Amino acid sequence: MMGETHTKVQARHLKRNAYLYVRQSTLRQVLENTESTQRQYALRERAMALGWRLDQVVIIDSDLGQSGASAVDREGFQRLVSEVGLGRAGIVMGLEVSRLARNSTDWHRLLEICALADTLILDEDGVYDPAHFNDRLLLGMKGTLSEAELHILRARLRGGILNKARRGELEIRLPIGFDYDPAGRVRLDPDVRVQESVRQFFRTFRRTGSATATVKAFHAEGLTFPHRIYRGVQAGELVWTELEHSRALWLLHHPRYTGAFCFGRTRTRKLPNGSHQHQRLPSEEWIALIRDAHVGYITWDEYEQNLQILRDNTQAPASGREQGPAREGPALLQGLVICAKCGDRMTVRYHQQGSRRVPAYMCQRHGITHAEPVCQHVLGGELDAAIGRLLVEAVTPVTLEVAMAVQQELDSRSAETDRLRHQAVERARYESDLARRRYMRCDPDNRLVADSLEAEWNLALRAQTAAQDLYDKQSQALTGISDAQRASILALARDFPRLWNDPHTADRERKRMARLLIADVTLLKDKGITAQVRFNGGATHTLHLPLPKPAWLLRQTPAAVVAEIDRLLEEHTDGEIAELLNHRGLLSGEGKPFHRLIVRNIRIAYSLSSRHERLRSRGFLTLAELAQRLNVSTATLKYWRRAGLLKAHRYDERNDYLFEPPDADTPIKHRHQGKTTGRPSTVAASLSTNTL
Ligand SMILES: [Zn+2]
Repeated sequence: MMGETHTKVQARHLKRNAYLYVRQSTLRQVLENTESTQRQYALRERAMALGWRLDQVVIIDSDLGQSGASAVDREGFQRLVSEVGLGRAGIVMGLEVSRLARNSTDWHRLLEICALADTLILDEDGVYDPAHFNDRLLLGMKGTLSEAELHILRARLRGGILNKARRGELEIRLPIGFDYDPAGRVRLDPDVRVQESVRQFFRTFRRTGSATATVKAFHAEGLTFPHRIYRGVQAGELVWTELEHSRALWLLHHPRYTGAFCFGRTRTRKLPNGSHQHQRLPSEEWIALIRDAHVGYITWDEYEQNLQILRDNTQAPASGREQGPAREGPALLQGLVICAKCGDRMTVRYHQQGSRRVPAYMCQRHGITHAEPVCQHVLGGELDAAIGRLLVEAVTPVTLEVAMAVQQELDSRSAETDRLRHQAVERARYESDLARRRYMRCDPDNRLVADSLEAEWNLALRAQTAAQDLYDKQSQALTGISDAQRASILALARDFPRLWNDPHTADRERKRMARLLIADVTLLKDKGITAQVRFNGGATHTLHLPLPKPAWLLRQTPAAVVAEIDRLLEEHTDGEIAELLNHRGLLSGEGKPFHRLIVRNIRIAYSLSSRHERLRSRGFLTLAELAQRLNVSTATLKYWRRAGLLKAHRYDERNDYLFEPPDADTPIKHRHQGKTTGRPSTVAASLSTNTL
């Protein structure tokens, strides 16, 4: 074998470096399979035996603990490929080298590049030259087999699991309240306390009809809920913790509590960035659902009823409740507020006040989870206005600093993007180089291959030109933008107060401006409201605001107006007072013009005696009383009043009058006989002329 090796390793290979790629799929393998790691490092000795110097051996081991299923995220493998592509590698070494990449595409790409760059490949079985057809075939098969092995392994494993699941025999982790008996059958947890807790939970939900109320009831009674630990040093232990809202929902949604066996309730998809997405499936898409497979806590019907109750309790569909980006509402600090009491982000809620939407900042996440009152609740109106004033004040002096900081940021960012764009050009150039070399190496007699390689080269050249053009254009645009931006930043600083106060500026724009300037606002509601504003530049500013007045206080009538009403009542009816006050431009506590009923309500609210009471206390008589006193009919009295013969005062808007009493010491009869003088005599005179 050594002889064969020597024929492949040439001086041109030895001039370049030897790359040792060390990899273990999982961290567990890294820890437990040290023997394999040792073997991987031992390849270094092989390289030196073949003629490489120790300082030429480059070890790439940054992928330890990464799975080989895809090259994404595997920085080490990417580096290896690029080093080979750049012609720096004389040989690539790895244990079972085909497992370098468990994905066939990655592997074939590496092989192809190795062939082009004239790089050898070494594994425990020997040295291969990918440029040689036979070696390449062998390596390709090794890669394919390795991938197939992985696939078969996985399929067999998965198939076994699925078959067992379909029969309902698969042992999977059971929710709290169940466990496996020694024979592997599902039974209720032998711990009676656990059983009773689960029963209590479902009973409470049936009684209260809501998950939140159930959590609240558990808290009120000081009950905890069991929870089994599955990982770590405490694995298998039972802990008792507070029941949380999310856990309550989980219990209610879990079909196993009905005694059903189920499998495949969620589907997991791998996203391009390597993370996983779990999607909950409707029950008809589950892989297995076998009802009454074992004992349970509730019936299937009850389970479905519970889910229906939960659906009915949800006011908005779940998708509508997801948090979106900056929204249209007027809450200036949406997404910027942090609760000073617990450190959570505060959310926005709107209250309708007449035609206005008034924002309020709430810290409620913890409250919802634990079914407790919200942590803090701060009305937004005054606060937003104060923040607005602060911004208008702050922008002018810090303008230049902000502008400079922003400029710097933009500059550094554009340098970064420039680097990235330049890399794109480099890549295109490399591709076209590759295509050119491929074309050059091809046998010109082989027309078909030569044609397609030429076409490839042409394409690569065109792509390179396009990339270069794009790069030139963008780097030109970049400097153009930065000039324009500098100007607009300065303009913004100058125009900021005007823009901010312009009623035509949309709430969303104002919010955007606020976000450009403010990093966050920490709110504390105590005897007053303290708002700690942290600007993006790092500066902070503390605002103190009084607590917003409660609604009833806001609507309160000013004391001066009440006093005025009291004074006017001496001479005027409610309706007249309303007119007089409106005439003077006064407004009610709610900011509306006065009206008879408003005056009446204020009068009652402040226990002011009415016009009627005041006249009565001055001895004024009712129509009936006067009629009796004067011994004439009420109709006559009304006639006299209209004729101006009687002194009377209106006390309401229905033209009801109270009459000034005739002199008490003058008997009516005397006046009838014309004996008295003054006012009574006029009455007497009128009596004599009008009675009959
Ligand atoms: Zn809080």
